[in-house]
Amino acid sequence: MEPADVFGDAVARVERMGRQAAVSPEVLAALRQPKAVLVASLPVRMDDGSTRWFSGYRCRYNDARGPTKGGIRYHPGVTLEEVQALALWMTLKCAVVGLPYGGAKGGVAVDPKQLSHLELERLSRAYMRAVADFVGPDTDIPAPDLYTNARIMGWMADEYQTIKRVQVPGVITGKPIAMGGSLGREEATGRGASLMIHELARRRGLEPARTRVAVQGFGNAGYHVARCLQEAGYRIVAVSDSKGGILSEAGFDVESLHRAKESSRVLQGVYCRGSVCELVEHQRISNEELLELDVDVLVPAALENVIGSHNAERIRAPLVAEVANGPIAGEADERLHERGITVLPDVLANAGGVTVSWFEWVQNRQGWPWTLEDVRGRLADVLSRAFSEIWRIAEEEKLSLRGAAYALALRRIAEAIESQGTREWFASREA
Ligand code: NAD
Repeated sequence: MEPADVFGDAVARVERMGRQAAVSPEVLAALRQPKAVLVASLPVRMDDGSTRWFSGYRCRYNDARGPTKGGIRYHPGVTLEEVQALALWMTLKCAVVGLPYGGAKGGVAVDPKQLSHLELERLSRAYMRAVADFVGPDTDIPAPDLYTNARIMGWMADEYQTIKRVQVPGVITGKPIAMGGSLGREEATGRGASLMIHELARRRGLEPARTRVAVQGFGNAGYHVARCLQEAGYRIVAVSDSKGGILSEAGFDVESLHRAKESSRVLQGVYCRGSVCELVEHQRISNEELLELDVDVLVPAALENVIGSHNAERIRAPLVAEVANGPIAGEADERLHERGITVLPDVLANAGGVTVSWFEWVQNRQGWPWTLEDVRGRLADVLSRAFSEIWRIAEEEKLSLRGAAYALALRRIAEAIESQGTREWFASREA
């Protein structure tokens, strides 16, 4: 991964794509900086009795279209700049799929693998204590992201409710089902991504059984996208986690890999029957090698900026689906486009997560849980509508899919901002 000015890169891309889509300079100026950020030092009592301080962040980027929405990540590399970039992407993503939300993001600079369960709970509650007046069901609604999950969301919801002395399940999404979480939320990012990849593959005339897919990252997003694609008939030939990857031309059984990883914490090339798992023929590869494989679809589903100027020339997959947020740095994106590689942009590819988060929030506010079929059916409707709109804009305006997705999102945000009056309207004398 290359060191990059991730926030500067994100703003520059919005400006470039906004000008291309004829979005007014005032709207682009409004998106150059976040609406509000909170930076906090989080004291956590460690199991040995000492206290450690962790840096925590929350950014509400733009709320022209509604309360802000975005995940919280735990990772040693979290910085304010990264959180701001992710919050800007959330603003676009919510607009791309037409959700009544603005964008936000949060994070803590921590390696959660180094913490005990109790330390992780204390950190999560400390984070919510720090942001309790900054978030809320009508202002800013967090959710899980990298290295955070339903249990952590449950601790945070509980802490918020303890502070406010009311039950407000809609303050956070991605909660455990028993605490007001939604059926289908856990798989939503991966399921949504698989639907979008399938839609793109179909329009490109690819047959699932002959389509070889490599997935970088085998966490929530990576596992579910691999599983759903395999269920749809695609061949998953490579997967990886932070320690490296595995490759098998014959394709892996994703559920077996997941089961083995759950029990041993290690990614192994296995096939499981019942509780018995056997090794299958495979090769170990590095994460860098995985990105450069000669496959039909490459799915980066771990971290940002994994494809940059250092490796853009060596990417061989004709389709790249950005299931992680921002896995392709700005210059590399242009290079891939010039080389004829189609990129399914993150603001569409991974929008399934926030879409089902919206469903969860709606269910919490209605006090009426939906069935899994309701959730899956509505997810498919929302995403396929967004895909068709983006495809149409890309064709009509001769834009890349990212260019079209940005055009759609920026025009929707512009409509909300300009509904309160444009520069021309204020300068004119007529009502
Ligand atoms: P996760 O914590 O569940 O999984 C992360 C995975 O990435 C793990 O398998 C980990 O081993 C792997 N990983 C970490 N460092 C790596 C490296 N250097 N190289 C290769 N793999 C590495 O996280 P997640 O929720 O699956 O999120 C992954 C990406 O998807 C992030 O960019 C996140 O912002 C994005 N995303 C997630 C959701 C969601 O609902 N979970 C929604 C939208 C976008």
